[in-house]
Amino acid sequence: MFPQFSDGTRLLVTGGAGFIGSHVVDVFLDAGAEVTVLDNMTTGDPARLDGRVAVHRVDVTDSAALDEAVRSVRPEVICHLAAQIDVRVSVADPAADARVNVLGTINVLEAARAVGARVVFASTGGALYGEGVPVPTPEDTLPAPGAPYGTAKYCAEQYIGLFNRLHATEHIVLRLGNVYGPRQSPAGEAGVIAIYCGLARDGEVPTVFGDGSQTRDYVYVGDVAAAFVAAVRHRAPGVWNIGTGRGSTVLEVLDHLAAVAGRDLSPRFAPRRPGEIQHSTLDVSRAAADLGWTASVPLEKGAAATYAWVLAGSPVR
Ligand code: NAD
Repeated sequence: MFPQFSDGTRLLVTGGAGFIGSHVVDVFLDAGAEVTVLDNMTTGDPARLDGRVAVHRVDVTDSAALDEAVRSVRPEVICHLAAQIDVRVSVADPAADARVNVLGTINVLEAARAVGARVVFASTGGALYGEGVPVPTPEDTLPAPGAPYGTAKYCAEQYIGLFNRLHATEHIVLRLGNVYGPRQSPAGEAGVIAIYCGLARDGEVPTVFGDGSQTRDYVYVGDVAAAFVAAVRHRAPGVWNIGTGRGSTVLEVLDHLAAVAGRDLSPRFAPRRPGEIQHSTLDVSRAAADLGWTASVPLEKGAAATYAWVLAGSPVR
């Protein structure tokens, strides 16, 4: 699948017990890396992890504990996925969101600097660019986020760019689309596919906010994990969108799930949610050209895999 990390590259994954982070851990383990996880377990679950993985239960806002953990692991690369990910929480308490997503990222950058590690940062494509931009949206579009979560991620990106200029580091930013797949919690607001899979299993009627024509760039979590590998292999700093380059409507998602579940999933419609953007799709040509990465799992296949996982009782591993 991937060229092997025959040298046993030491990798630290913050947020590695989370939905995406645990897949990133698995793909690097398979590729021969030596992987350690750092996570405060707010939404993470250590049961998602392979038994070979050492876990540091540390909060990224605790710079002393973070420094100590990073110095003990001495990673060559830190994949930084630990974050407050709930957009509604960020609106209700922007300072708390910024403490984790901005200050926590600065702490990670400083800890990485002490051991000379490169950082690959999980930013957002879906919550960054805002309304009125070209769709699909290329990386050089000026971001205009619609919520504190996107603003904090953009601010963290700015620190990464600054560190690259100031300290000649080679940190990388990956702007992820709407990630879905096994291990995603249906409680998170990003997890519309996870939510609809649960409703399809239970024979319940899904709710669609607005008319269902809003588009998102749904990217399968296995493809996202592969993008982290491609980014680590890339020996230069930069910013890359990670998505499929194809927008799918909410109604298309329901059609795919209705087909795999073999049930009618006609939704009930509710008023469009304030602040929700109508179209979000990422231009992914830069990732293809620079990283040699493209998404390989089409929505119908990824939705089927996710539904199969939900039917199997949503096993953590
Ligand atoms: P998740 O909630 O499953 O994972 C986040 C992980 O970070 C959890 O394990 C949690 O316990 C940990 N964490 C939270 N706060 C922490 C703190 N202060 N210190 C240490 N650990 C902490 O969410 P996810 O969907 O897997 O998201 C992973 C990353 O990808 C996040 O940075 C998120 O912003 C980014 N992202 C996700 C999506 C998506 O569609 N899910 C899209 C774009 C970007």
